[in-house]
Amino acid sequence: MYRSHTCGELRIGDVNKQVTLAGWVQTVRKFGAITFVDLRDRYGITQLLFGEELNKVLDENPLGREFVLQATGLVAERSSKNAHIPTGEIEINIQSFTVLNKSVVPPFTIQDDTDGGDDLRMKYRFLDLRRNAVKKNLELRYAVNRSARNYLHENQFMDIETPFLIKSTPEGARDFVVPSRMNPGQFYALPQSPQTFKQLLMVSGYDRYYQIVKCFRDEDLRADRQPEFTQIDCEMAFVEQEDILNMFEGLIKRVFKDVKNIDYTEKVARMSWEDAMWQYGNDKPDIRFGMKIANLKSAFTRNGKIEAVGELINGAGFGVFDNAETVLAIAVPGCSEYTRKQTDELTDWVKRPQIGMQGLVFIKCNADGTYKSSVDKFYPEDKLKAIAHAAGAVAGDLILILAGREERTRKAISELRLEMGKRLGFRKEDEFKLLWVMDFPLFEYAEEENRWVARHHPFTSPKPDHIEVMINNNPVIENAEKYLEHPYNHIKANAYDMVLNGNEIGGGSIRIHQRALQEKMFTALGMSQEEALHKFGFLLGAFEFGAPPHGGIAFGFDRLCSILGGSESIRDFIAFPKNNSGRDVMLDAPSSIDDKQLDELQIQLNQGQD
Ligand code: ASP
Repeated sequence: MYRSHTCGELRIGDVNKQVTLAGWVQTVRKFGAITFVDLRDRYGITQLLFGEELNKVLDENPLGREFVLQATGLVAERSSKNAHIPTGEIEINIQSFTVLNKSVVPPFTIQDDTDGGDDLRMKYRFLDLRRNAVKKNLELRYAVNRSARNYLHENQFMDIETPFLIKSTPEGARDFVVPSRMNPGQFYALPQSPQTFKQLLMVSGYDRYYQIVKCFRDEDLRADRQPEFTQIDCEMAFVEQEDILNMFEGLIKRVFKDVKNIDYTEKVARMSWEDAMWQYGNDKPDIRFGMKIANLKSAFTRNGKIEAVGELINGAGFGVFDNAETVLAIAVPGCSEYTRKQTDELTDWVKRPQIGMQGLVFIKCNADGTYKSSVDKFYPEDKLKAIAHAAGAVAGDLILILAGREERTRKAISELRLEMGKRLGFRKEDEFKLLWVMDFPLFEYAEEENRWVARHHPFTSPKPDHIEVMINNNPVIENAEKYLEHPYNHIKANAYDMVLNGNEIGGGSIRIHQRALQEKMFTALGMSQEEALHKFGFLLGAFEFGAPPHGGIAFGFDRLCSILGGSESIRDFIAFPKNNSGRDVMLDAPSSIDDKQLDELQIQLNQGQD
């Protein structure tokens, strides 16, 4: 037996017990004739005391950091106690010990405040994983995993594995492909998600499926994405949207309870996609705070009408507003006394290339009811007051206004809102606000190809009363300039996203389950009948054998963990992550392969290219 106890286990009540511990040497402190060693394992740290006799042995064979040690001794009360660690009241008077393995000097300190930079810690990830901070993240990940599994199991979901070597049907992201040795010249693809398999499982009658599963997408890695990531993937048959929303808000509430001990008893808020875009400027609003966006003049139509108050700002001779496609404002609470320096800094902030605006207009709503603005010249007090009213501002607020092209300005104001929310402390790490965003458009216009693409994926069904519009209209866009007027633009999907604190943590839809409608969908996306059959014949065929109505959702497991763990980075919650260029710097992958392997695969590289 290597050990009788772990390094996190012994307490004052264990004094006088003889114990054997095994672990890694965290620190060695020599005081004259005695030596203290902090021994660490997964469970904690225990202080070992080597008396005079053993100290001599240590002098000859010194212990180094990260040596693996087995030590036996008596538990004793410590004279100077350490209140910061659970074992801080005791130490072990060592009687005998064995060095189970030596260690070279580690490239960084294995401590909470390590001296190792990101790259070094990625290269030696197995050492970084020894650190408490990283270990806590993996423990949280496992707690989320367990909680989700328990909930799903209790609700009759079955975990069913689906294959990783599948057929390449790129739609949305690029596929990772794997050459087949046994079928030269042919390739498998790694699944972007198990979408079609889980739908087939519904056809097979497994009416509640789940899987905590790896998905693979060969995307250019934007901030904090991983080429392989994990989803909690779920599907249910004989359900309507409402059933799914209820079941899966239950799942997240259970995870909150089990992992964070949070009783999220209120019903999860719901918002239409249109409201989200209109009021928050994006489809994953952080609703921990208000500061909703006001349209002072806008090309954005809502329910078919332009809901803006353009007359307030147009025609005053202020070209920036007069000529802008859209003018959007937020009222920032309590900031009317910002100094010139502060407003200049905000102006610089919106001019940064990531935000890309030309400038920032502000109106200070003074406490005494007067207004002061950077555009006083064009707008008399009563106009400023009317704008403030439209922006929902009260005395003491600072109104920030951006003007420009619709899409860019909306994005910019949404970023500015989040930034101000952060600066003012409205985005608290320990406050969790869930939101369902619903009624997404079914299609999105792809400008480069002048065609429709599926906003969610091609298996998502339209809202029942929009099916007619889809069937009865030609998807072809005759006039690209006027794509907004095409009836397909108004078709809404039976799709929903779950948003947590401004992050999309899950998304799903009610699926199409009839062959004819699915075929129509493929046509709408510009696929020929042959192409649809070639790519998705298996699914179309299956729909003819009694496919039940079904729908589902998938949660981004890594992201969920990172939010619950209060971190911006999903990498911190993945044992062996890739870096921003998709490389595993520890393994040094991807890498070239032997000529022999290439020969077996009958693959010839295009030599001479970098
Ligand atoms: N398969 C979808 C995705 O990965 C989720 C779903 O519709 O269930 O986004």
